[in-house]
Amino acid sequence: MALIVQKYGGTSVGTVERIQAVAQRVKQTVDAGHSAVVVVSAMGKSTDGLVKLAYDISSSPDRREMDMLLSTGEQVTIALLSMALQELGQPAISMTGAQVGIVTEADHTRARILSIETERMERYLNQGKVVVVAGFQGISNEHDLEITTLGRGGSDTSAVALAAALRADCCEIYTDVPGILTTDPRIVADAQLMSEITSDEMLELASLGAKVLHPRAVEIARNYGVMLVVRSSWSDEPGTRVVSPIPKPRSLEGLEIALPVDAVEFDTDQSKVSLLRVPDRPGIAARLFGEIAQQDLDVDLIIQSIHEANTNDIAFTVTQNSLNRAEAVAEAIAPALRHDLDPAAGEAEVMVERQMAKVSIAGAGMIGRPGVAARMFSTLAHAGVNIQMISTSEVKVSCAIDAEDCDRAIAALCQAFEVVSSPMRSDRQPGQAEQTAPPVRGAALDLKQARLAIRSVPDRPGMAARIFNLLSDRSISVDMIIQSQRCRLVNGIATRDIAFTVALMDADDAQAMLQAAAKEWGMGEVAVDKAVAKVSVVGTGMVNCPGVAARMFDALAQQHINIQMIATSEIKISCVVPEAEGVQALQAVHAAFGLSGNERIVVPA
Ligand code: ADP
Ligand code: ASP
Ligand code: MG
Repeated sequence: MALIVQKYGGTSVGTVERIQAVAQRVKQTVDAGHSAVVVVSAMGKSTDGLVKLAYDISSSPDRREMDMLLSTGEQVTIALLSMALQELGQPAISMTGAQVGIVTEADHTRARILSIETERMERYLNQGKVVVVAGFQGISNEHDLEITTLGRGGSDTSAVALAAALRADCCEIYTDVPGILTTDPRIVADAQLMSEITSDEMLELASLGAKVLHPRAVEIARNYGVMLVVRSSWSDEPGTRVVSPIPKPRSLEGLEIALPVDAVEFDTDQSKVSLLRVPDRPGIAARLFGEIAQQDLDVDLIIQSIHEANTNDIAFTVTQNSLNRAEAVAEAIAPALRHDLDPAAGEAEVMVERQMAKVSIAGAGMIGRPGVAARMFSTLAHAGVNIQMISTSEVKVSCAIDAEDCDRAIAALCQAFEVVSSPMRSDRQPGQAEQTAPPVRGAALDLKQARLAIRSVPDRPGMAARIFNLLSDRSISVDMIIQSQRCRLVNGIATRDIAFTVALMDADDAQAMLQAAAKEWGMGEVAVDKAVAKVSVVGTGMVNCPGVAARMFDALAQQHINIQMIATSEIKISCVVPEAEGVQALQAVHAAFGLSGNERIVVPA
């Protein structure tokens, strides 16, 4: 007999008939001899309806009252599902998050789970009852007993956390698609089902726009080794397994707030090639990285950002023994990259740095905690280390620095994050699974992004730390952080531009805060562009596989889509493109990696 946690999303419980169908499915599980804890979402789009009501009354509703309101949606479903089970002769009892004892931080609308009491649920299970729990909600115990919610889409997180706390045999997420697909079938009709995906890949996809799973749910599954499956509510197909490595034993206390960083990694075999003043038009990155791939050179980090006068800087890192060949490719291309609108700008300029190192912090606990990256930047600043390139992913932040600073950087990071450093070049030695994994497993589109650019940031250690601390104090997460490669003198001070992306809903806040700090910190204007989209590809198999980036850039170039920003991590490549071209970009990239198939996935309304 197994203990199974099942979670049913909004569409799956959207009508009375669907709730009755869910009850049938739950009863089958019990009839097969298992115990079941069932987590449910609010019916259909009713949470959206509640949000709308709040905004009809207030343009900035109080966050405590918002939680009081939104938590009601799930409470409707638990009662109805329990009644439906009882109608089938199956004993069942509904419980709110507070009744279970899902204890969270007091941080309204985005609370993290601290602990879960299992005693009451176990008592009911032992009585042969199905326990039906309201997803997405908890209770704080800091001051008063405050009702909290976990953030939109948070029922997945409730389910996996309950499975971890109960040491359940399996957590099944039932939804309106047959499992995890190569991309969103609502945007790309020929998206295909995958039978399994690694938790690292799913973490990236989830945070880059694939809302089929809440990223924090994947994080908990990874940390506690929860067996996680995503399946259709309407069929008996096996769905998709999310595969996690065997976790280190960890306490259930502080469930979602344990040590955020597991390892400090470093790689001293890096050098950097920059192309400065590249014209800002489609096809440039495709051409450069196409040539690099022809030479079979494995590129690690790539960044590109708009600098000034419609020209871009592109920078990438390669191993030191590949540098000469990479530099030769860049030099050969540069004369062709004349700025067509502004001939005076001359041709692109190539700059190389031979002795670079990369230091990274890694760990699933940094998801949605912008303070972790900010702490890395502060730590490096205090150690007097200047950051040349930054690459962020959901589970890793990497900084390219001067090779001579590497030892100092590692020592400071290990101390700050209470970890020992890992062997060199850990990321370049793929494990067994990664050797057979396809270079790209899936693609995602995020239309709810904005791009911010801060002009003329003084080029000295500590500026990145200041900027990202300011944002993280307001819980604003930042992605795709890119500093221009060129320095520009402003009033005799060397400055660089910094660009990054944030969630659309945080854009105005971020701009206002940075603008207010700009004068005091000697920074220039803070520009925001909300009409952007981020298209990304993810796959552990892209480690050590030259040409993946080139293929993505080429797919976009063929559609004449201009790439505004590029950022990569070991297992993902993201490009910012104009919002109006986001859907076309996703479709082109999905097709270019051969992810399309013949099966048509129909998503019920
Ligand atoms: P639920 O209400 O069950 O939690 P969600 O709407 O939150 O369901 O998530 C399921 C939806 O996620 C699908 O209907 C699909 O449109 C979307 N989606 C986005 N990316 C993917 C993907 N890679 N695989 C499957 N579904 C995806
Ligand atoms: N009902 C909540 C939402 O719509 C939580 C969830 O469905 O996961 O965001
Ligand atoms: Mg969901």
